[in-house]
Amino acid sequence: MGFDKLFNAQLDALKQEGNYRVFAELERKSGQFPRARSHDENGPEEVTVWCSNDYLGMGQHPKVIQAMKDAVDSCGCGAGGTRNISGTNHQHLLLEREIADLHGKQDALLFTSGYVSNWATLSTLGSRLPDAVILSDELNHASMIEGIRHSRAEKVIWRHNDPEDLDRKLSALPANKTKIVAFESVYSMDGDICPMQEIVEVAEKHGAMTYLDEVHAVGLYGPRGGGISEQEGLADRITLIEGTLGKAYGVVGGYVSGSDALCDFIRSFSSGFIFTTALPPAVAAAARVSIAHLKESQIERMRQRAQVAKLRKRLDHLGIPHLHNDSHIIPVMIKDPVKCRQLADILMRDFGIYVQPINYPTVPKGTERLRFTPGPLHSDADIEHLVQALSTLWKRCALAHAVA
Ligand SMILES: *Cc1c(COP(=O)(O)O)cnc(C)c1O
Repeated sequence: MGFDKLFNAQLDALKQEGNYRVFAELERKSGQFPRARSHDENGPEEVTVWCSNDYLGMGQHPKVIQAMKDAVDSCGCGAGGTRNISGTNHQHLLLEREIADLHGKQDALLFTSGYVSNWATLSTLGSRLPDAVILSDELNHASMIEGIRHSRAEKVIWRHNDPEDLDRKLSALPANKTKIVAFESVYSMDGDICPMQEIVEVAEKHGAMTYLDEVHAVGLYGPRGGGISEQEGLADRITLIEGTLGKAYGVVGGYVSGSDALCDFIRSFSSGFIFTTALPPAVAAAARVSIAHLKESQIERMRQRAQVAKLRKRLDHLGIPHLHNDSHIIPVMIKDPVKCRQLADILMRDFGIYVQPINYPTVPKGTERLRFTPGPLHSDADIEHLVQALSTLWKRCALAHAVA
């Protein structure tokens, strides 16, 4: 009882700043994505989801659904143990081989999520490698930051997507250190893409290991969905590629991929790999089918790109400011946490458009935004409905029509 006061004091502060998080309660409708049933009593029962990380709608792909059902029928629901004690299923190994092949690596290791894969792997590398220093891009994801912190290794932060700054910081380190450069390919909040070739060259020059998070790129970029590293022909020069099965692949789980020795090392020493129940075999089976499908099929990626381009063009036409980038992520800048939430509320309630407001601490204060992720299943009519709604609200709220 007495403790609730302590909890509420901090919650009240969040609310006052406009940064209190409200989760939309949805029921995704299989076969009708991006439509979902909303349980918000103040709004329409059916909404269109505009901020999903199921970027290509693979979560409802018939082949993926069938693979999951078949595996439940044959293996049951859970894995039945940690990987170490009875939980390693044939499906996990098949999936790890599929992932290794995706990135042209010797091996891969599955984790329960992308978050856990970053956290567990960076903690293990940073704590076990001799004299490790982790050089982290300043905008790296929370899961990497937490993993680095937990490793207690020395940490050096380099300026976002700035290979020259990385070069300077690597130059300042003694030669005998084990250097690990940690960065992402597609940064999910601004949608910008790293200068991978330059970063890799700088790392090679200093004999540093490269740790690449391709979470927002796998399935989406490269002819087989291997990410930006595949698109740029750089995968074989990256030491470790980390990815998720929960975003473009539409299921859940995370992984790292690299040499046999690297994967064996993480498998053997990483507490976050060993001491947790393995993913359900059906999840592994579904993810494998999703990866295999996107290795062959270009339709989903092509249609996604077309819809992204259409939404950008319409926003430009109406003078609605959005960040320009080379990815599939369209951030519409609001720059105020309260307005950002209000706009999202009105979009949901009056227009059946669901977009989550992105506020601090996910992004810096003053850069609050609505982040749209058009996919292959958004129709032209969906796009038109969205831009008309935004245009109406823009006028109503008298927001600046300046290009961000
Ligand atoms: C979402 C995300 C993760 C975590 O992946 P999950 O599979 O959702 O846990 C890791 N890195 C980045 C950059 C992400 O955006």
